[in-house]
Amino acid sequence: MKVLLVMGPPGSGKGTQAKKLGEQYGIAHISTGDLFRREIGDKTKLGIEAQKYIELGQYVPDETTIGMLENRILSNDCLNGFILDGFPRTKAQAEFLDHYLESKNTRVEFAIYYDVSDEIVVQRIKGRAKEDEERGQAVRKDDLDEKIIQQRLNTYHSQTKPVLDYYEQRGVVVKIDASKSVDEIFSETVKLI
Ligand code: ADP
Repeated sequence: MKVLLVMGPPGSGKGTQAKKLGEQYGIAHISTGDLFRREIGDKTKLGIEAQKYIELGQYVPDETTIGMLENRILSNDCLNGFILDGFPRTKAQAEFLDHYLESKNTRVEFAIYYDVSDEIVVQRIKGRAKEDEERGQAVRKDDLDEKIIQQRLNTYHSQTKPVLDYYEQRGVVVKIDASKSVDEIFSETVKLI
């Protein structure tokens, strides 16, 4: 079982890269943000709970997030491994993942960190929301308000930076400059893998 983590601030493009990597290597791509948005769309109990936090730019509580993720990684398409996009984002989530992988006699092999400044991500998220709006596509509510974008960044710096430090200490982090184009970042990622 091969497990790859894709990390980075909101708007770093990690979701785009993780999806492409899943297609390239034929392994499951799991985005906790996408899983939450599906639950919200289906108006499930979990979705209704998660929405309250997401719209404020806060993290969904660990118990809910870990429960949802655990269900997903028990699926058959995860038997050979998976790419985690946006998980773990807290120390408790990282501890859960360690225990789960230990029980499968494996561990995180690689954590790709998409490095980009706060200024660039704010511009990117706002640009993406504007383009989607102009095309008549659904826009993520948490992308529409600059205050919420800023709050997501604050949440990221306070809660997820320690998780990055934790994997750095284990020597599994590879940093990639995510201010470049999608294609440039992808080819660099593939080279590193
Ligand atoms: P972004 O990286 O741009 O914030 P995501 O789609 O990955 O976008 O996540 C959207 C939101 O979903 C986050 O702001 C957070 O509220 C929630 N979320 C996603 N993953 C997690 C997680 N691992 N733990 C807690 N909340 C999460």
